[in-house]
Amino acid sequence: VTRLGTPDREIVTTCAYCGVGCAFKAEMKGAEVVRMTPYKNGAANEGHACVKGRFAWGYATHKDRITKPMIRERITDPWREVSWEEAIGYAASRLRDIQARHGRDAIGGITSSRCTNEETYLVQKLIRAAFGNNNVDTCARVCHSPTGYGLKQTLGESAGTQTFASVGSSDVILVIGANPTDGHPVFGSRLKRRVREGARLIVIDPRRIDLVDGPHVVASHHLQLRPGTNVAMLNALAHVIVTEGLCDEAFIAERCDPQAFGHWREFVADPAQSPEATEAQTGVPAEQVREAARLYATGGNAAIYYGLGVTEHAQGSTSVMAIANLAMATGNVGREGVGVNPLRGQNNVQGSCDMGSFPHELPGYRHVGDATVRGVFEAEWGVALQDEPGLRIPNMFDAALHGSFLGLYCQGEDIVQSDPNTQHVAAALSAMECIVVQDIFLNETAKYAHVFLPGSSFLEKDGTFTNAERRISRVRQVMPPLAGHADWEVTQMLARALGYPMHYAHPAQIMDEIARLTPTFKGVSYRRLEEAGSLQWPCNAEAPDGTPIMHVERFVRGQGRFVVTPFHASPERVNRRYPLLLTTGRILSQYNVGAQTRRTDNVVWHDEDRLEIHPDDATERGIREGDWVGIESRAGHTVLRARVSQRMQPGVVYTTFHFPESGANVITTDSSDWATNCPEYKVTAVQVQAVEQR
Ligand code: SF4
Repeated sequence: VTRLGTPDREIVTTCAYCGVGCAFKAEMKGAEVVRMTPYKNGAANEGHACVKGRFAWGYATHKDRITKPMIRERITDPWREVSWEEAIGYAASRLRDIQARHGRDAIGGITSSRCTNEETYLVQKLIRAAFGNNNVDTCARVCHSPTGYGLKQTLGESAGTQTFASVGSSDVILVIGANPTDGHPVFGSRLKRRVREGARLIVIDPRRIDLVDGPHVVASHHLQLRPGTNVAMLNALAHVIVTEGLCDEAFIAERCDPQAFGHWREFVADPAQSPEATEAQTGVPAEQVREAARLYATGGNAAIYYGLGVTEHAQGSTSVMAIANLAMATGNVGREGVGVNPLRGQNNVQGSCDMGSFPHELPGYRHVGDATVRGVFEAEWGVALQDEPGLRIPNMFDAALHGSFLGLYCQGEDIVQSDPNTQHVAAALSAMECIVVQDIFLNETAKYAHVFLPGSSFLEKDGTFTNAERRISRVRQVMPPLAGHADWEVTQMLARALGYPMHYAHPAQIMDEIARLTPTFKGVSYRRLEEAGSLQWPCNAEAPDGTPIMHVERFVRGQGRFVVTPFHASPERVNRRYPLLLTTGRILSQYNVGAQTRRTDNVVWHDEDRLEIHPDDATERGIREGDWVGIESRAGHTVLRARVSQRMQPGVVYTTFHFPESGANVITTDSSDWATNCPEYKVTAVQVQAVEQR
């Protein structure tokens, strides 16, 4: 019995928050959800869940949900509720009008890592086939795009190597730039359990996170580096492994490209990469680095887990490749308990990337310039496809400000709150002629929109999500879409209004098409998912039951490829005016920009973002616990309350980004990863001062 009544049936589905992908039972009374409980047969969570997921169903029926399509000619006009037919027709005619006046490439779209694989696939198909260009990008641009690039370059596949269960066989666990206690709680608990069983834990993080000395676990080593120096640190670890003879020579000889290894070994063996030489950059005593390197290389099965503290840097892609180098050099790839494991932020970041959401890649990470691959899609889709990559999100903004990009279809992504340098994003959106926002709430981006198409929550549709372990799990409809149509239906209505035929009757048909076109998904279908519960790709004739561990006998790319990873200091430097470095992260009870978690029952746990500051820096500025503080960067200014904390090192401050009134991204800058344009959220030079009030 729950406070909402006694459930009479249950439907198993997948959490819509983080990349752990926990399975839940939606317990129903009639057409109402009365409770969601973790599903004990869920492969990713084995009956566990966190406070976010347990309350997630609350936002689906929140009073802020928009359930009627709306249009307006100018963003200064009031919204006008209209029928679905009028809204879709209006969006299509304005987008086509832009193309008629400014060319085919003047419009584009953004897919959502919160939507299903099938919905994401349809959006990129709409853009490539109906818009006629490759101007499609995804919110993964701002989180794990360096993972896609870095792991493809080194190992051959843009995905993590293990299952979550694999951590149960690890002897050494290295966590860098991730805080799974708050960001990925169910996996975090699994990791802590393994440490309590005896595994050794190395934490590389600028902040004294819970894993360092929290209530349930204590790390063997905490390398508390300065923000922006991951590559110097990873190279220093590699230097110790190479110069102290700790490489797994047999693994390297058998599995890796010898020439690339030779170049890399020569590079990291240089004394300039040593812990002693890089101590001034990282701020970590050399002997601590040496001890951690020896433990990682000789302590048995060693696994690396990393998060946005690795990717969201000017050298994010370099860091990912440096991590893969470490794993290959020590033979820690291709079996239980080891590997390279990105902890994905959103529930379907892996899936949205798999589904061809990047402007240079069709589904399955195949380049748009590959004529053979393009031919397969052209035959199925019945159109000629462009062979040049389209615009990335930051390029779309720049082109908008230059007057050559004027229309945007944005599904399930609040770019105004999520992307860095809010002022720049707002200026770009203001310069566009038609923005179509499809979302469940009237988010910050909708303030710049001309068409609002009400979206559907994870409880209102069928589909699949793919979690951080490449596990494809079913999302099952537990209630009808509040606005009358699920997101996948809306996308195909828009496609038809643009003159491109799309007539799927159910997401299962979309998955069948994905499987026909994508070699790593060949064996995936809703029938197989019902039988197996979930499947980890690659799933095809060679691996009919899926692939829990990748690169077992050989790397996906053939030979593992070491990449030379020189360190370059972040363009964000401290000086007299901006003497502190700001870095960002998450708290347990909130999810990303908080649009969903702020509208559930767990909202009472936290009601604001705070600025964590070391006691020395606080004292120097006359700041006490709870005071309002102004934070100024080269990009902008915001005001938060202070939390004086020994978790910080002197010279470094920290905040979360869950509340729009905090405006954390007002102060983050345009600096971004050299390979993927992933923003450097984790390093911003700032000044902090006490102020009277917000
Ligand atoms: Fe699981 Fe993540 Fe959802 Fe928590 S937020 S229940 S860890 S999927």
